[in-house]
Amino acid sequence: MIHPTPSTTRRAPAKKSAREARAPALTARPTARSLTALREEAQHCRACPLWKNATQTVFGEGRATARIVLIGEQPGDREDLAGKPFVGPAGKLLDRALADAGVARTQTYVTNAVKHFKFEPRGKRRIHKKPNEQEISVCQQHWLDNELRLIGPELVIAMGATAARAVFGRATAIGKNRGHVIEGQPLASQVSADVLVTVHPSYLLRVPDEDRDSAYEQFVADLKLARRYAPAG
Ligand code: URA
Repeated sequence: MIHPTPSTTRRAPAKKSAREARAPALTARPTARSLTALREEAQHCRACPLWKNATQTVFGEGRATARIVLIGEQPGDREDLAGKPFVGPAGKLLDRALADAGVARTQTYVTNAVKHFKFEPRGKRRIHKKPNEQEISVCQQHWLDNELRLIGPELVIAMGATAARAVFGRATAIGKNRGHVIEGQPLASQVSADVLVTVHPSYLLRVPDEDRDSAYEQFVADLKLARRYAPAG
């Protein structure tokens, strides 16, 4: 009996995409000693499958010495294309609310719990999909923890349930915990900081018209609690 030679039975290795070929995959925990180095490492992150469909890693942005770190959920469609956090509709709303609260975004560092856009294609549109527990936890351990470690903020603002989950390392109700600063919290990242929990700005884009103004005012009232950590300017 003639057996086929291994060369005829072995599958050709799948071709690497240009993105895969460009840089080594990063699956081990990063050890960067500066935010700039951490950001560079994050560009090659393959710690969970979300990188495959996203355009790029959307890392945090802002002052490396910021006293306030704002955390959202994950980049949206616009952020994925721009490579910058909070530049789409939710970002515009956040900018307005920060200005109304008297907190300058330029004095803060803005990031997300998850650094890749998770979506479902629907026709030509990409519909946001919530990251799951594992994606949140892996991304937190690789990137968010290190961002917080390197920045050492005095106040962390967790906007929405995903951010709160990443900051505390467990599910945390927004309604019950918003509206006051929780002082000296040991965070999942081993950093200790004050924490302010509030809603995600996207929530304000979805609330019914009749509730929108009061929901916005409440959001601004929450953000005003950050004023003592960094004056406008
Ligand atoms: N929503 C987020 O949570 N983060 C962004 O950067 C944009 C929208």
